Amino acid sequence: MPKMEFKAESKRLLEMMVNSIYSQKEIFLREIISNASDAIDKMYYKALTDDAINFDQDNFYIKVTSNKDDRTLTITDTGIGMTKDELEENLGTIAKSGSLAFKNENEMKDDHDIIGQFGVGFYSSFMVAEKVTVVTKAYGSDEAYRWESDGVEGYTIEPCEKAEIGTTITIYLKENEEEENYDEFLEESRLKNIIKKYSDFIRYPIKMDVTVHEPKEDDSEETVETIEEQTVNSMVPIWRKNKSELTDEDYENFYQEKRYGFDKPLKHIHINVDGTIRYNAILFIPETIPFDYYSKEFEKGLELYSSGVLIMDKCSDLLPDYFGFVKGMVDSEDLSLNISREILQQDRQLKAISKNIKNKIKNELKSLLKNEREKYEKFYESFGRQLKYGVYSDFGQNKGDLQDLLMFYSSTEKKLVTLEEYVSRMPEEQKYIYYATGDSYDRIEKLPQTELVADNGYEILYFTEDVDEFAIKMLMSYQEKEFKSVSSGDLGLDSDDDKNEEETTEHKELFEEMKSVLGEKVKDVRVSKRLKSHPVCLTAEGEVTIEMEKVLQNMPENQHVKADKVLEINHSHDIFNSLKQAFENDKEKFNLYTNLLYNQALLIEGLPLEDPVAFTNDMSKIMN
Ligand code: ADP
Ligand code: MG
Repeated sequence: MPKMEFKAESKRLLEMMVNSIYSQKEIFLREIISNASDAIDKMYYKALTDDAINFDQDNFYIKVTSNKDDRTLTITDTGIGMTKDELEENLGTIAKSGSLAFKNENEMKDDHDIIGQFGVGFYSSFMVAEKVTVVTKAYGSDEAYRWESDGVEGYTIEPCEKAEIGTTITIYLKENEEEENYDEFLEESRLKNIIKKYSDFIRYPIKMDVTVHEPKEDDSEETVETIEEQTVNSMVPIWRKNKSELTDEDYENFYQEKRYGFDKPLKHIHINVDGTIRYNAILFIPETIPFDYYSKEFEKGLELYSSGVLIMDKCSDLLPDYFGFVKGMVDSEDLSLNISREILQQDRQLKAISKNIKNKIKNELKSLLKNEREKYEKFYESFGRQLKYGVYSDFGQNKGDLQDLLMFYSSTEKKLVTLEEYVSRMPEEQKYIYYATGDSYDRIEKLPQTELVADNGYEILYFTEDVDEFAIKMLMSYQEKEFKSVSSGDLGLDSDDDKNEEETTEHKELFEEMKSVLGEKVKDVRVSKRLKSHPVCLTAEGEVTIEMEKVLQNMPENQHVKADKVLEINHSHDIFNSLKQAFENDKEKFNLYTNLLYNQALLIEGLPLEDPVAFTNDMSKIMN
């Protein structure tokens, strides 16, 4: 039998294929199994229109066998097989897909499951094989043929014996090299893993002879090894099942099996979309936060399947960053894959799916918040920070989607509340949504700045996370109510503003003097509008608040950004009289008091003292 050469282009293409198209060698098994599944599908499809074929499920399967002595791997299927011409056509010409032709000839509608389309998958076997043989007998034919190739020089086809209809592909593994060990593809457990990973949801059984250890009959500790034929794939993808057939437990099992997390999912979302774009998805909101979630190492993404075959482990384009915690998978027949079926072209379908998914997640979270508050709070504890980052990032373009999912601790309710709840409780005359920042609820509770707002009976939101104030600055307002820090200059309260100014003017010299004692440290010293029982506090003028300064101080590139601090004095407090007296009679005492008051204000704010030793010395001085 003369050797047929691959066509010239094919030869080059083949080399490319083998060396560069696929990122992982194990993919070859996915491709060979996909072809076997296609071949069985074609029988199934023929049976639909041909009464002569009795498609009995039990007779259709794929079997994977390895032989360590020969270093071969065989994949047998009971599919449609190939005639001599088809062997020539489909395996002799690279980039010729018999499956695509089959779909066209049979005018198959879109709801088929046939996977092949590019006509290159088969050759991926040469990544691991030095020789491949294909023994096949086509449906409706009495003759069987054997195709053989070493991948470079060409191939031969000759008649052979084969009893059953179908195809057996034998892969003769390459010699091991220093860096590459091909023996792994003979190991039972490795093969099982590859099948599970890529081909778990192939609709026909993929069988393997598996070694099992059974206890000996004589009750001793020893076991006997037996070989048992097992089906290693699950076959029916849970996402194609009807939601009504599935229980919470089914979803939890799937979550565990897929190793999406070690916890139980807090919530699952099962999506079957059958519109202009068709896809199925099962998404999970995890209960606990993965240990590396807020680190650089964390990779978001969903598993992506095309007609039940895994294409990508982590398709990051499917999830916006702010929903990066979501786990799960998407399966669609409508994706335009590239030739390796590995990476996707940036296509319209994928964009449409990801937009759709984003909305589903958002709505699910909203309904969780509305109907299962406790669960939502648990979720928010883990991932609320992520949502706030979402509001802040991308120039705030997602804030509309996210604002109703935010929660903050409330001074009056003593628990997390939504912005909607806050606004709905606002008395008519209240102009702003008030917030206060600090390290903990406890500390904020005691902040002097909160006094006046709280005394007006207004609710205050407590911000304890770095991102809070930045997110709120991006949000600017909620239902047309602006956010206002309790430390900001104008609190929008109907208090006696003028009187404060009068007081400041009246004691102008005193305040000027305090300012000159403190120098660069403060922008201004004045009478406070917001203090009632406390003697002093610090506030900030302008865009940068004190809390923001604290956050920025931790970023090397932003350390120069400072808040314009204002020292506010409670002129109704007893200390103000002492201050006045010192101002008039004792310059040294006045300096001492000024420094003490400033340092107290720093402490209350949770800011570091510039000179703790000087502060304690000052304290000791007044005790003398
Ligand atoms: P694709 O699957 O994208 O069409 P492949 O290179 O994987 O490309 O396969 C080329 C063609 O070879 C297939 O379209 C199919 O017609 C044929 N073929 C491959 N494997 C088998 C098989 N096990 N049984 C029947 N036909 C097969
Ligand atoms: Mg294929």
